[in-house]
Amino acid sequence: MMKDKIKSLAKAYKQEVIANRRHLHANPELSYQEYNTSKFVKEKLEEIGITIIESKADTGWAALIKGKNPEKRVVALRADMDALPIVEANDVPYKSQNPGVMHACGHDVHTASLLGAAKILHEVKEDWEGTIKLIFQPGEEVAPGGASFMIADKVLENPRPNGIIGQHVMPFIEVGKVGFRPGIYMASADEIYVTVKGKGGHAAMPETLIDPVLIASHMIVALQQVVSRAASPKIPSVLSFGKVEALGATNVIPNEVKIQGTFRTLDEEWRAKAHEKMTAIAKGIVEGMGGEVDFEIRKGYPFLKNDPELTNRSQQAAEEYLGKENVLDLDIWMAAEDFAYYSQEIEGCFYRLGTRNEAKGITSGVHTPTFDIDEDALEIGAGLMAYLAVSELEKA
Ligand SMILES: [Zn+2]
Ligand SMILES: [Zn+2]
Repeated sequence: MMKDKIKSLAKAYKQEVIANRRHLHANPELSYQEYNTSKFVKEKLEEIGITIIESKADTGWAALIKGKNPEKRVVALRADMDALPIVEANDVPYKSQNPGVMHACGHDVHTASLLGAAKILHEVKEDWEGTIKLIFQPGEEVAPGGASFMIADKVLENPRPNGIIGQHVMPFIEVGKVGFRPGIYMASADEIYVTVKGKGGHAAMPETLIDPVLIASHMIVALQQVVSRAASPKIPSVLSFGKVEALGATNVIPNEVKIQGTFRTLDEEWRAKAHEKMTAIAKGIVEGMGGEVDFEIRKGYPFLKNDPELTNRSQQAAEEYLGKENVLDLDIWMAAEDFAYYSQEIEGCFYRLGTRNEAKGITSGVHTPTFDIDEDALEIGAGLMAYLAVSELEKA
């Protein structure tokens, strides 16, 4: 049986997947600078015997594994390869050797798992029909997102995949378990940069000034109406301003106030409308109070929608592979992920791989200096991905 074959291979290759993950973890590279990582991935693919490898988006790869009857259907599997500008605080043998850079989002896990899945799929390629496209992409962490460059570089063409599956570590899920959510899953994320300009001077003479601090305060409060009044209560939206900089003093009103924030939601139409609304409110308040405003919205990733059918089929396959009790239903997650670019183009399924182990003290969230995983997750990360791909080629 295919399932048992894949399971036993995942077990057999587990130590190798762990070694690859440790190598990647010790040698992290920032977004769009994944040159050694990229070289490593290509070498490993060639070692497996995969020969159809195309360079994409500078450091990315698209590789093909052809089964029997390769024209039948195409399923893509995706991993991201970049690390974060974080100083690792873990004291482990595979600690980052690149100071100030750390695989704190588990992209080392995704890359090592996909290499493991590739090895398994290549080994059993006489047993399945269709083509599997492996996608290793750069720059998930930094806008505009490596996925957008991969797509611009035609990663979804020749052959065009029928669907794409991606996995991401989840430190809130126990190792041994995975999570799925058909439909809307993750948010769009846009960065907001505002400068409110007034006229500074001595704080004792406000009548001669235009106070940008007061104006900015009104503007921030007013903008919350976008989320509380203009947004449909049925569409989750978040507007947060995490940075407000007014460099005056007790007796000095500054000339300007700089503000940074984020807007996140789960609907592309509303997202565009919200951008217009926020700009209009900011302009209205600031100009009404005599100031001027630069209101810049830098568009980030779109919201992430999991194709309901592909995701239901994948969830069912995961239940076959891991047992029903080990497959969880996920809630909406307001973070963003550039996998969303693929799932806007073709059917997508982005699922979560549990990596938590409280008994071993492995509980830190992603993007923290103490993030780590229980490496038992790698056996599932490689094996389940291979099984999902084969099941999808079979079922659909
Ligand atoms: Zn991340
Ligand atoms: Zn990530």
